[in-house]
Amino acid sequence: MHIAGVASLVATLMTMTLTTMGTTQAQEAAVAPADGPVVSPAQLATFKTCLSGLRPQAIAAGVSSATFDRYTAGLQPDPDVPGFLDRQPEFTTPIWDYLAGLVDDERVADGRSLLTEHASTLSQVQSRYGVDPATVVAVWGVESNYGRNTGKRPLLVSLSTLSCEGRRQAFFRGEFFATLRILQDGDVDADKLTGSWAGAFGQTQFMPSTFRRIAVDFDGDGRRDLIGNAADALGSTANYLNKSGWRTDQPWGYEVRLPVSYTPPVTGRKSKRPLSAWVRDGVVRADGSAIAPTQTSAGLLLPAGRNGPAFLVLGNFDAIYSYNAAESYSLAIALLSDRLRGGHGLVAKWPTDDPGLSRAERREMQTLLLVRGHDIGAVDGMIGSKSRTAIEDEKRQRGISPVDGRAGHKLLESLRGDAVTP
Ligand code: CA
Repeated sequence: MHIAGVASLVATLMTMTLTTMGTTQAQEAAVAPADGPVVSPAQLATFKTCLSGLRPQAIAAGVSSATFDRYTAGLQPDPDVPGFLDRQPEFTTPIWDYLAGLVDDERVADGRSLLTEHASTLSQVQSRYGVDPATVVAVWGVESNYGRNTGKRPLLVSLSTLSCEGRRQAFFRGEFFATLRILQDGDVDADKLTGSWAGAFGQTQFMPSTFRRIAVDFDGDGRRDLIGNAADALGSTANYLNKSGWRTDQPWGYEVRLPVSYTPPVTGRKSKRPLSAWVRDGVVRADGSAIAPTQTSAGLLLPAGRNGPAFLVLGNFDAIYSYNAAESYSLAIALLSDRLRGGHGLVAKWPTDDPGLSRAERREMQTLLLVRGHDIGAVDGMIGSKSRTAIEDEKRQRGISPVDGRAGHKLLESLRGDAVTP
């Protein structure tokens, strides 16, 4: 979900923990598809009154009265949407689970094939914005699974509801009016304008206001189409990173190895020191090779503490972070870009004896749970509430602790054992 530039909302919605709300893909797993919200006559009357009150504000924001009337006639609120504003994650996802699903072999293979398919466009994107193909494609892969998963909630419904209900109405009114301006300009069709509950949409998962500032018509057909046009999506992603300070001559950072018993003087993306200072402390690349002791600033990330993988991150990591304000998310994009360049993944192990599952392994687990008679819905690789209930049940029966709904390798191996036992 892309909500850059909205610091307070970012703090509220994403938090710095790894929540199941971090992505459209994860989010849709937790949200039952809307079969049409139930709206009472009283709710509808309140909503209509609110919309009438918004009309002059929308017109002051550049929406024509014809556009406003056309797209708000017959509009109904979705009473489910405001609940997401205050929704607490059911549990915190460990970073190794999060990365196992977002940076898996499937996403790497898909990304490599798209690097080839869109090579010419990506080369032009790189010439214009200075951002390399692997980074642009990695953002695409993490944001929307390369355009396959862009969110199903009608934007006009979600954003008009949030403009009239809940505690962020001023912000969402701006996004609602921006959406109407996008439709007025003819860049995208109203019936295709669906996204996350908060309004991020299209292959880049831009918020509507970000779309208006950043989206580009890269293929030159006269429309900025981030829903149906890959070239526009790739160009717009690179434009975003370029405007966020992307440096062509630098990597995002890299995995590093710290000296034994080393206590870093500072950690975190924001507490940067010159690479020369880290080198002086004995920090080397994860493969043991030396880091050039330059004055370039780098921060030390320890996402799972001192006993997990360590990373030095440079300014380009901050550019990725501005695209999607969560360190876990930025790290997923960064690590996927490395894999797309042919890298082999992390050297250090995450500090767990029960590693996370790729999407293929999650589907395998769901299939095995179905075989055992659990009602887990569709085998889609997304661990929703039904899958979690089944997982918890199986862990209890098998004595796998902790008994919770987390999908990990221990249970998968146990379920596989059943499958081969006569
Ligand atoms: Ca276009």
